[in-house]
Amino acid sequence: MAKYFGTNGVRGLFNELGPELTLKIAQAVGLKKGKMLVARDCRLTGPVLSASVVAGLSSVGCDVIELGIVSAPTAEYMIKKLKTDGCMIITASHNPPEWNAIKVVDKDGVAISSERGEKIEKLMEKIELAKWDKTGKISYYDRATADHIDAIKKLVDTEKINKRKLKIVLDCGNGTASVIAPRLFKELGIEIITLNSHMDGRFPGRPSEPTKANVGELIAAVESSKADAGIAWDADGDRVIFVDEKGGYVIGDNVYALSAMWKLAKEKGDVVTTIATSKVIEDVAAKFGSKVRYTAIGAPYLCEEMIKKPAVIGGEEVGGVIWPELSLAKDGFLTAAKLAEALCEKKLSEWLSEIPEYHNVKMKINADEERKKKIVKKVLEHAKKNKLNFVDVDGVRVNMKNAWVIVRASGTENYVRIFAEAKTKEEAEKLAEEYKKIVS
Ligand code: MG
Repeated sequence: MAKYFGTNGVRGLFNELGPELTLKIAQAVGLKKGKMLVARDCRLTGPVLSASVVAGLSSVGCDVIELGIVSAPTAEYMIKKLKTDGCMIITASHNPPEWNAIKVVDKDGVAISSERGEKIEKLMEKIELAKWDKTGKISYYDRATADHIDAIKKLVDTEKINKRKLKIVLDCGNGTASVIAPRLFKELGIEIITLNSHMDGRFPGRPSEPTKANVGELIAAVESSKADAGIAWDADGDRVIFVDEKGGYVIGDNVYALSAMWKLAKEKGDVVTTIATSKVIEDVAAKFGSKVRYTAIGAPYLCEEMIKKPAVIGGEEVGGVIWPELSLAKDGFLTAAKLAEALCEKKLSEWLSEIPEYHNVKMKINADEERKKKIVKKVLEHAKKNKLNFVDVDGVRVNMKNAWVIVRASGTENYVRIFAEAKTKEEAEKLAEEYKKIVS
């Protein structure tokens, strides 16, 4: 098991991550030489950790192109555009401001999972500095956001959007969305009202995670301004949530379901998602005759699956959508631009009425490592014995006609989580209770 790499990079408080560990990780990544992009979000610890990453890469002979403060999907898009061997992004995504993380993405745009991170960690023991005349070159590129905006505009009907004269409220959460979202939407000819759109690594406007509780100001602004929609991102801009014209909060699952619906209407193919995603994705896919392929939880696994076998769209339950025609990053800005395009046809609440509604229930059971394994094994045996329709890529998910339940060990805490989804709250509760009994 990896010592430092979690599901998506090395994450921690500043004193845990620190400049020394960050330098060593970058050196290990840089040993393969080549050319790497380095980008960061606006957290206060970003400059020092970014300096460590740049020093680490260059010290072992890897060239560096610094992109400065840009969104994560911008940095990931630039890998292909600038033909580099990957990128390192200093961002703790939606986590509180005292956190930070080092995210590593390879040349194909695939984020490094914990399994691949383990290999990098082994190299940390074998660091060899480059000779004095072979250290990596360090250069700067300041057009990344402009390039990303241009690429997004090529993938939506800009003329149609421009004509429709939409009004949209953007809540940038004081994160990197501030550098791209207002500019993108202005260029699309949309009237915008912005909230928290100045970057501040303390996230003073609202916590970075765009949960319903955290975007109350956005909901109120959509209602009072009679806007067509509201949009909010997390600090690195890969996650996005919507608010409809009536002030209704659209959860991440439904952001993905809408995106899949818009995409599948234009292009047939498989849909990839994690085993924690709502059944609404299966329902949307079924409508278009598409197959859903499930992966373990974590963006790297989605990317790996999409590289292995083509898919038209990928995504996860928190509102991260991958549009492979642009990159394998979860791109909160292309997703937002696709919303603007869809709003030219119908109101957001009308789009939402086309997707089924589900209710869910979450439970957790205390369990140490050993008990976690036993519980998951028990559910797997139950599913096999009763010939249930199940997926066991990460815990066990049992799919039923109008419901599903997953029993999964937490990767970081001493819990086994039970998550059930059904057409009504009562059915979901019954299902979760049933599985709690099976495992205890
Ligand atoms: Mg994020």
